[in-house]
Amino acid sequence: MKVLYRLKDAGHQAFLVGGGVRDLLLGRRPKDFDIATDARPEQVRALFSNSRLIGRRFRLAHIRFGREIIEVATFRGTSPAEDGDQKQVLHASGRIIADNVYGTIEEDALRRDFTVNALYYNIADYSIWVFADGLADLESRQLRLIGDPGRRYTEDPVRMLRAARFAAKLDFVLHPDAVAPIPAMASLLDDVPSARLFDEFLKMFQSGHALSSYRHLREFGLFRHLFPDTDCWLDDPACAADAAMIESALENTDQRIAAGKPVTPMFLFGVFLWRAVRLRTEQLLAESDDFSHMQALIAATAEISTRQAQRIALPRRFGFPMRDMLQLQPRFATRKGRRAMNLLGHRRFRAAYDLMLLRASSGEVDQELADFWTDIQEQPETEQRNRFGLTGRRRRSAKHRRRSGSPD
Ligand code: ATP
Ligand code: MG
Repeated sequence: MKVLYRLKDAGHQAFLVGGGVRDLLLGRRPKDFDIATDARPEQVRALFSNSRLIGRRFRLAHIRFGREIIEVATFRGTSPAEDGDQKQVLHASGRIIADNVYGTIEEDALRRDFTVNALYYNIADYSIWVFADGLADLESRQLRLIGDPGRRYTEDPVRMLRAARFAAKLDFVLHPDAVAPIPAMASLLDDVPSARLFDEFLKMFQSGHALSSYRHLREFGLFRHLFPDTDCWLDDPACAADAAMIESALENTDQRIAAGKPVTPMFLFGVFLWRAVRLRTEQLLAESDDFSHMQALIAATAEISTRQAQRIALPRRFGFPMRDMLQLQPRFATRKGRRAMNLLGHRRFRAAYDLMLLRASSGEVDQELADFWTDIQEQPETEQRNRFGLTGRRRRSAKHRRRSGSPD
């Protein structure tokens, strides 16, 4: 409200737009607020001391209030203007890679993705400006692209992921016209920068509707372009237990978010990749006698996660913990000795334990073993030492230490 009113009082048009309007009309709490204005970025910058200009593709102002950021964008146009500073650059594939064309509110609306995302709340008279039937679509709970769906997906293939995401988040139906081009266009996702796909991953899988997003992505044939090493076996009836494990993990993630508990993207990445890592480990062991099981697991984890990173750039601060989580799995098999006891104190124990529980639910790990690790966490330390068989005097020979040395 503060931003809208200050823009208006300075003589500019100011509208709340996008998810902010859509979600408020649906009675939901918006995730963030976007504002559209006829003021140029420099003018916005000058009005707010707590603002800065960002963006290469399109310049916009970020106005900060504590942890909250309000994004203010100047209306975007559709036609490249003569002004040398204003340009739209198309990739050979037709994808827009740079544009800084300012325009009218009508043009701005037509560039947005879905009709329900092109509703504008005008602070000057509290009216809602509707373009492209957005209000009717909101009422009938359907997602329709503005303009020709095939062309809109070509311009920006991420819109296909947004279709799956909004269908999941809002529980809307994707209009058949918006579904039809997806099979032919899905592979355009392979050209989208992997860092942008990570941002989209977070919105799809860490916002409380992971399971539904996943099912829509699968239904539309998009998931294989995000996690090819996972998608390739999901339809195999022999892998039903592993597929169910993935759904459980997604459901757990949604439940954690609903309960206000923290989540980390590395966990789902690890769950998605676990089967591929496991199979590659077995393959490496079969191919060569030089590998210990742990060495094969480490090599397989590196190989699979490197390949996955070409699709979605998982930042290193998540990538390393994910590898740890996967590489700890064999250690749950041992219930005796100091090394088993040390597992409890490992900084990735919690995530690794959660993955092990999922593996137990799919039948890959004995439930009895899983129960051992569940129970032991509840025990006082003396009892833990008992159960790990550490009752005797602490004595570790050099040879023993070497043999049990942790690879991580
Ligand atoms: P939410 O914030 O709940 O994820 P949202 O609709 O606000 O949903 P944002 O990513 O915040 O989505 O984008 C704000 C608005 O910008 C959208 O409502 C839409 O109008 C426009 N927009 C965002 N991304 C695109 C895109 N790839 N193509 C066209 N328009 C887009
Ligand atoms: Mg938003």
